[in-house]
Amino acid sequence: MMEIKILSGANSIGGNFVRIEDGDKTIIFDQGIRFDIMSRFYSGFIAPRGVAELRNIGALPKPEWYEGANGIYISHMHLDHLGALSNIPQETKVKLPSMAVYEDMEEKWVASPTWLSLIPRKYYVELDELKPLQTDENNVMAVPVSHSAFPAYALIYFGKNENVLYTGDFRIESFLDRDLFREINGSDDLLTFLEENKDIKLDFMIIEGTNIGSDRIPITPVEATKIVKKLTKNRKQIVATLHSLDVEYAYMLASIAEEMKMQVVVASTQLAKLLEKIPNMPSKPQVIDEYVDYLTPFEKTTIANVKEKTLILVSYREIVDLIKDLNMAGSLSKDCLAIISEPEPQIEEGSEYTVITNWFSTMGIESYRIRASGHYYQYKLKTILDKVKPRKDVKVIHTEKPKLFFKILGKN
Ligand SMILES: [Zn+2]
Ligand SMILES: [Zn+2]
Repeated sequence: MMEIKILSGANSIGGNFVRIEDGDKTIIFDQGIRFDIMSRFYSGFIAPRGVAELRNIGALPKPEWYEGANGIYISHMHLDHLGALSNIPQETKVKLPSMAVYEDMEEKWVASPTWLSLIPRKYYVELDELKPLQTDENNVMAVPVSHSAFPAYALIYFGKNENVLYTGDFRIESFLDRDLFREINGSDDLLTFLEENKDIKLDFMIIEGTNIGSDRIPITPVEATKIVKKLTKNRKQIVATLHSLDVEYAYMLASIAEEMKMQVVVASTQLAKLLEKIPNMPSKPQVIDEYVDYLTPFEKTTIANVKEKTLILVSYREIVDLIKDLNMAGSLSKDCLAIISEPEPQIEEGSEYTVITNWFSTMGIESYRIRASGHYYQYKLKTILDKVKPRKDVKVIHTEKPKLFFKILGKN
């Protein structure tokens, strides 16, 4: 009999840890950081002392949860799923969505003076890359999903007698059309894949429930694209923030720039590294020398040379500095428009919108906040259940409202 244990994340957004015991096989899906706990114990001037302390307060998984694991599978690289690899107490194989993305991020973590230096692995942990639609030595298959981090996978474990689907974080609509999604992810997304492979029977589904009970108006990627198009029409300069792993959103912005004959300029090292890995970007970006400090194949420009007719991509943390620098250099257009993409859920990343907005209004910059969720909306749950058709049971994770979820399912 297979046992599915949700050891963390059953009652919180993020910090997922799923342990599946199936005879002599033990599989772990995600081993994330509990940011809800982190924010209760730490602040700008109170910092973690190390892995032991983080385990004690419950922000990192307990060592015994890993016992006997045949493999640890990471659905995507948000830290509430990837977790701190240095917390893994024993020799194990960890399968990551992308080695190249991990290595770029590792460089940053290793050099960090903060707790982020705890994220890289210890020497005895072996890393390997997930490949779409391949079933590995543990009978685990990764199936691409659309999410605000690239690449992102749902994971299927084909067990001895029963099969389990773990969705990871996902939405069911993407910023990319089907062909483009396939080209960038190496296969169709989860729901399309299941529809075309009806012989795959799933007994259990562990589904994320981030937006369950959320009253935010549901905006799909297609609708978000329309809004951004409307806002950016005929503007001379646009500054847009995005998360450094959000390839789909970056791709959408670059397509709009191409359509409007605007030059894409990147003002973030992480983002430039990510865009390098994307084949056939709709327009060739330039990078701003002062903000991108590594050898990139992209053409370089400088703050002083940023002209009108540009769309500048920058991280949320750097946007205020960038605006100030552009202003000082005389490169800030009077027609500049800022589009801030809200990170979500807010608990995953500290957000200081009011601080940023105050700077914009002081400098006379028109700005809007937009949020196309990386997670499916509640009204789509039925569609998902109809397509996955779990035969035995549904479990929810990555939610603050598990009770509401089960009420919706009709099992109290
Ligand atoms: Zn998450
Ligand atoms: Zn995520």
